[in-house]
Amino acid sequence: MVERVTGRDRSGQADRDGAGTASVPKRVAKGKPAAPAKAAKSGFDKKTIAMVYDFDGTLSPKPMQEYSFLPKLGIDPKEFWAECGRVAKAERADPLITYMHLMYKKAKERGIRIDRADLVAQGRAVELFQGVTEWFGEIEAYVKIRAESHGVTLKHYLVSSGLTEIVEGTSIYPHFANVFASEYWFDAYDLPFPKRVITDTGKTQYLFRINKGIEDLGESINSHMPEAERPIPFSNMIYFGDGDTDVPSMALMRKSGGHAIAVHTPGKSRAKCVDLFKAGRCDFFAPADYRRGSDLFKRTCLLLDRMLADIRVQEEMWKVARGV
Ligand SMILES: [Mg+2]
Repeated sequence: MVERVTGRDRSGQADRDGAGTASVPKRVAKGKPAAPAKAAKSGFDKKTIAMVYDFDGTLSPKPMQEYSFLPKLGIDPKEFWAECGRVAKAERADPLITYMHLMYKKAKERGIRIDRADLVAQGRAVELFQGVTEWFGEIEAYVKIRAESHGVTLKHYLVSSGLTEIVEGTSIYPHFANVFASEYWFDAYDLPFPKRVITDTGKTQYLFRINKGIEDLGESINSHMPEAERPIPFSNMIYFGDGDTDVPSMALMRKSGGHAIAVHTPGKSRAKCVDLFKAGRCDFFAPADYRRGSDLFKRTCLLLDRMLADIRVQEEMWKVARGV
């Protein structure tokens, strides 16, 4: 797209400027009516960096349903997840649809009504790993200082199998450019019904949506889009996850020139991260300590440095190719 558009720009420019008006500076010709739209494409524009996070186990120590929903029902989380596993296996049901169904089935059995607003309110009880709250601002400040190219922007995204409603109630919700998570219909005639279920492999759809800039879920993601037209190349993305459920996303990132970082609960086993690292699923792993100066912070900054250098190199190449 860049090539095609630029070719069109340049040839159009040459035509306009070439007809006996060689002394007219190109800048003047560009100031004609069509200029604003063209101007947006007049520079190297692959300058958006996306940091994409899993939620449970990555930003928060426990599954988000364990902080409020299950305690409110008096259900032991271990018991609940084990039952979800048993039912899903016996019924050959999708494990995520199963958990979403069982949550409300059990609430109904106990005569407890939990509507959308209640779920959002439960988000306030969700705990986050150390430093998560400040992380977004700190990383944005780092990119601002280190980016030597004008116009570099950083966006944070969440892609989770957990519940959109609960995430909305967390203190970090406003930091995300977009949140892609499972969600309920609340107008079902009996129990709330899954509106959207984001499975492990389904997560990759949302990475493509970020990559292609098609974040409106009402729009299809499947149309072909040449790499050059995609607003956020995978090479400008870092995915953060904590386990097997992140394997498809990490694999896609790594295969497509993107980056992945695995985290584990500080002080707990890092065996899963080591497995992911050895299998080439992630660039780095570190304890989920998001405070400035932590290994996670430093290793993320290393990747950002490389990404920012790469953006500069590509921008320079873009300019050289066009004689800018
Ligand atoms: Mg997780």
